[in-house]
Amino acid sequence: MMKRLIKNGQCLIDGHLQVCDILITDDKISQIEQHITADVPVDQIIDAQGLFVSPGLVDLHVHLRDPGQTDKETVKTGSLAAAHGGYTTIAAMPNVIPAPDTPQRMREMLALNQRDGAVHMVQYATITTERGGDELVDMAGLKAAGAFAFSNDGNGVQTAGTMYQAMKQAAKLQMAVVAHAEDDSLTYGGVMHEGSVSKRLGLPGIPSVSETAQVARDVTLAAATGVHYHVCHVSSAATVQVIRAAKAAGVHVTCEVSPHHLLLSDEDITGDNAMFKMNPPLGSEQDRQALIAGLLDGTIDLIATDHAPHTDAEKAQSMLKAPFGITGSETAFAMLYTKFVKTGLFSLAQLINWMAVQPAALFGLNAGRLTEGAPADLALFDLTTPTTIDSADFLSKGHNSPFIGEHILGKTVRTLVAGKDVYGSKH
Ligand SMILES: [Zn+2]
Repeated sequence: MMKRLIKNGQCLIDGHLQVCDILITDDKISQIEQHITADVPVDQIIDAQGLFVSPGLVDLHVHLRDPGQTDKETVKTGSLAAAHGGYTTIAAMPNVIPAPDTPQRMREMLALNQRDGAVHMVQYATITTERGGDELVDMAGLKAAGAFAFSNDGNGVQTAGTMYQAMKQAAKLQMAVVAHAEDDSLTYGGVMHEGSVSKRLGLPGIPSVSETAQVARDVTLAAATGVHYHVCHVSSAATVQVIRAAKAAGVHVTCEVSPHHLLLSDEDITGDNAMFKMNPPLGSEQDRQALIAGLLDGTIDLIATDHAPHTDAEKAQSMLKAPFGITGSETAFAMLYTKFVKTGLFSLAQLINWMAVQPAALFGLNAGRLTEGAPADLALFDLTTPTTIDSADFLSKGHNSPFIGEHILGKTVRTLVAGKDVYGSKH
């Protein structure tokens, strides 16, 4: 039996930071007390003086590019990047090549995740074969093979009939449909949010209705089928309003927002810079305020990064040519802590609720809790020492972040998964 004692950390107890000691026995938290005087000898004491000891964060939305695009990221580098950000459980999107769209491919994907994943991983299956078109996957077979939920993330499901059939099947299997909402007939080849800024920069815009129209369709279908419908990376005020109304009507809908949609708006795009190109695009300042309000009133359930690594060469291109997406795993907690908790808009307990507790609870994952008997998945953050986000510290292969150079608090000091060090023990 391996016993490790984390001494003198600060834990959230009843919503407030209090000094606590945490005893880990093998892969579980066996005791949490203000002071643990070890009557049995422990194998190691970890000094957490001055550090915030958080339940490991849970990210329901990452892209690890493996297999198929391993110049951008691998399961190994992507999961190490997650650990660097304080994440201990991540859900991998299925837009890899080949996509996990059959039970056999799902088993191969899970074997790769198991072999190379530094943190706990769950895996999305696609909704349709090859993640496009209208042919539904073998949902029952994929569930049996170990799929976490179904998503075509990267693209919207274009026809209502396909989404309706997918939701009916998923409801029967008690599986969630997790949607990237985007109507291709409403995107017009755009590369950023359509509005005054896109006009000023002379760049083609994507109207927000491309997201909202599909979410409106889908909540109607979710109401009719009873499925758990989860909306990825909500980006506009109008979409928040559609979800708020659907929740009030009793539809089983949940949704996430990304850190970048909370932190940035299209007004931050001052020139042709692909570090600000993501899908959905950064909305207007009014959209950003509506997302913050949506989180605070419970319409938006959780924060997920949409970690989307690309090569330096790809993102050095113009907004017109570069691929959509930015990395997020390694900057999310520190950026949100610095910009929202330090400024008093969110409490630390709210942030941890959205980044760990809720994503686990809503999807039935045994994670996100700092309690006796829970898995020893922990992140230790330094909330007091100022530091600068430096891409040289990234463990992701991707350096495509608009937050490089930001001055932050909340650097990750150490991350443990199932009682084992996965980040920071040597730092
Ligand atoms: Zn997406």
